[in-house]
Amino acid sequence: MSETLNLIRLGPSANFDLDRLSLRLSARLHDFTIQVSEPLDTPEMAFDSSRKQYHSTRILATLEEKSEAGAGRVLAVTSFDLYVPGMNYVFGEARCPGRVAVISTYRLNTNRLELLEARVVKEAVHETGHMLGLRHCTRHSCVMYFSEQLADTDRKMESFCSECEGKMKMIEVE
Ligand SMILES: [Zn+2]
Ligand SMILES: [Zn+2]
Repeated sequence: MSETLNLIRLGPSANFDLDRLSLRLSARLHDFTIQVSEPLDTPEMAFDSSRKQYHSTRILATLEEKSEAGAGRVLAVTSFDLYVPGMNYVFGEARCPGRVAVISTYRLNTNRLELLEARVVKEAVHETGHMLGLRHCTRHSCVMYFSEQLADTDRKMESFCSECEGKMKMIEVE
């Protein structure tokens, strides 16, 4: 069983290539066919001018509006800083479970391309796990561990621990 994961660039191009992300994710998310879809503008209604950040939950609502149900899941990638009320920033957010997610490269930046790629892949796999219904994992090394700061992201793997992997299989069967 293969479902489609659409990668969508949101807003101005980040210093990150979606075709490369697509290749890297294909190696991690075996149950998905990954494709790069048409970019979208970053929804201005999600912008908070006092914080100079985008409200990620509002971005999710826009993605749900603009993407067709049945056309696969959507993972949007933006270079803008994201937040949810009560937090200074988030690396990403997803409907859990659901068909839309967004990640930001804003806080992942480094001039080491390899490190940047690893971080983006981890956040992308993490939010995809949420779309599939996975919650946060307590294992520091698991990709579903909650990244509060970059050190958490750098410490975890790009893959699910065996327990999360097992849960995912069960979700798929349901
Ligand atoms: Zn999470
Ligand atoms: Zn886990």
